[in-house]
Amino acid sequence: MRVMVTGGAGFIGSHVADALIEAGHEVSVLDDLSTGNRDNVSQRAQLVTVDIRDADAVERAFAELRPEVVTHQAAQTSVSVSTREPARDAAINVVGSINVLEACVRHDVQRFVFASTGGAIYGEVPEGERARVGWPTQPLSPYACSKLAIEAYLPMYRHEHGLPFTVLRYANVYGPRQDPHGEAGVVAIFCLRLLEGRPIQINAMRETGDPGCVRDYVSVDDVVRANLMAVAGKIEHDILNVCTGVPSTTLQIAEALQHALGIEAELTFGPRRAGDLERSVLDPSITHEVIGATRSLSEGLADTARWFRDRS
Ligand code: NAD
Repeated sequence: MRVMVTGGAGFIGSHVADALIEAGHEVSVLDDLSTGNRDNVSQRAQLVTVDIRDADAVERAFAELRPEVVTHQAAQTSVSVSTREPARDAAINVVGSINVLEACVRHDVQRFVFASTGGAIYGEVPEGERARVGWPTQPLSPYACSKLAIEAYLPMYRHEHGLPFTVLRYANVYGPRQDPHGEAGVVAIFCLRLLEGRPIQINAMRETGDPGCVRDYVSVDDVVRANLMAVAGKIEHDILNVCTGVPSTTLQIAEALQHALGIEAELTFGPRRAGDLERSVLDPSITHEVIGATRSLSEGLADTARWFRDRS
């Protein structure tokens, strides 16, 4: 099939594109290279440098590349940027996504896969609980609102225009190629700092000195598998959490990475960051039924740490 990966020069999108190529698909990447990197894009994929806010440029790219399936990963991905610049976040994540959806309709795309957020869409998940897809959504950042907005458009596009869709609500994704210079992506940030011999900071969940926020960390390998199945139309659910259901504090991640790299770092403890949820853990029962077992955290972190070490 001809598959377009928007955001395919980024962390997750580039892994999805590589796996689609391996599976025999003809892959195009639509990306403005704002946070993505040309070097992430396989020689076997066709890269078009387009900002999804530019509807005419999106239209020209679809006319040229004629995708049959689109997996839409391109986004403004930072929660904290979204709180500082909510209009820019919405311009990319809402209006840009609509530009892509409109092009899908005009060019008879057969399926649309949407990278949404399980990590932000449910709001706070109380201690001892894991958020199921049926839970009420409670977006507490402009970023989460923008993802939920597109989730709301999708049934309308299916009803009005016959465009089938799958929403993948990713938990906290980690793996090779994640940007270690951003504000999010604690695994990548810690790997880089450890390898550079710099201290690593645990931002508080509530009070400075606590072990940090609780998150559900999922390997990019599992996210790729979910995307491949969704592209092939093998996921019957409209919405799927892509998660492990295993809660980890930031401190536990720091300890696991120190162990994996054999490097002991100085730990510093910072205050709570505005906009950070205290606890976000998702229910993986349907995930496991659909995509099979997810990778163990210790194994996935060890592989990721090795990748960063080999590159440093
Ligand atoms: P990333 O920043 O590495 O990838 C995003 C890609 O989109 C980049 O290549 C960037 O250049 C491109 N992009 C940004 N704005 C664009 C625009 N206006 N036009 C065209 N391209 C544009 O981030 P990622 O972590 O790989 O995220 C991929 C997707 O997964 C995003 O939709 C993100 O919201 C979602 N997601 C990620 C996580 C996570 O933990 N990383 C969790 C939940 C959801």
